Amino acid sequence: VVGVNGGGKTTTVGKLSHRFASQSGAKVMLVPGDTFRAAAAEQLAAWAERSDGVMATYKEGVKPGALCYQAVDEACKMGDVDIVLADTSGRLHTNCDLMDELVGVKRSIGKRMAGAPHEVLLVLDGTTGLNMLNQAREFNTSVGVTGLILTKLDGTARGGAVVSVVDELGIPVKFVGVGEGMEDLQTFDPASFVDALFPASDTDAKET
Ligand code: GDP
Repeated sequence: VVGVNGGGKTTTVGKLSHRFASQSGAKVMLVPGDTFRAAAAEQLAAWAERSDGVMATYKEGVKPGALCYQAVDEACKMGDVDIVLADTSGRLHTNCDLMDELVGVKRSIGKRMAGAPHEVLLVLDGTTGLNMLNQAREFNTSVGVTGLILTKLDGTARGGAVVSVVDELGIPVKFVGVGEGMEDLQTFDPASFVDALFPASDTDAKET
C-alpha cells in the first residue's frame, strides 16, 4: 500500500485487514514498512489487534525492503496466512531516493514470492485537488499501481480529481475511505460517486 504522507495508508491497511478477516475469514499479516515514521509500527500494531490480524516481526533499524522480504518469508513459513498487507513510508513522490527505495521494496517482495506483490494499491487523499494526478503518475511510473483507494470522503471533499486519474492512467478505484473507524471502508460504487459529485439538487438548480 503506497501513497504520500498523511493520505491514510496505515489506517487503510487496518481497515482492509478487518474487511478481509471479517468478510472472508482470511488470516491477514500486517507489515510495518513505514520505517521513517517512529509511531507507524505501534499504530499498525493497534490495527492488527483490533482487526484480528497478525503483526509481522518488526526490528528497528531494518530497511523497508529487508523488512518486507522477511515478512513474506515469515508468512510463508507460518503456512496459514492468506494475505500480507504491507504499509510503506509516506514518501514524497517528488523525492527520487524515496521512490527508488519503494521500487526496492517491490523487488524484495518479488524475490521471496514470484509474482508478488499481487496488488499495488495507491491511497489518494480525497481532499487533494489535481495534484492527485501528479502523485498517481509518479507512483504508477515507479511501482505500477493496480488499484486506487480514495480516502476522507466523509467530509466535504468529493474527490472529483480522481476522475482525471482514472481517465489518464486507466487504474480502477477499488475502495473509498469514509471515516477513521474500522468499518469505514466501502467498495467503490461509481453510480453513488457520480451522484455525490453532481447531486440532484445541483441538476435541479441548473434546470430551473
Ligand atoms: P499515512 O501517513 O498515509 O499512513 O496516514 P494515516 O493512516 O496515519 O492517516 C492520516 C490521518 O488521516 C489520520 O488522522 C487518520 O485517522 C485520517 N484518515 C485516514 N483515512 C480517513 C478517512 O477515510 N476519513 C477521515 N475523516 N480521516 C481519515
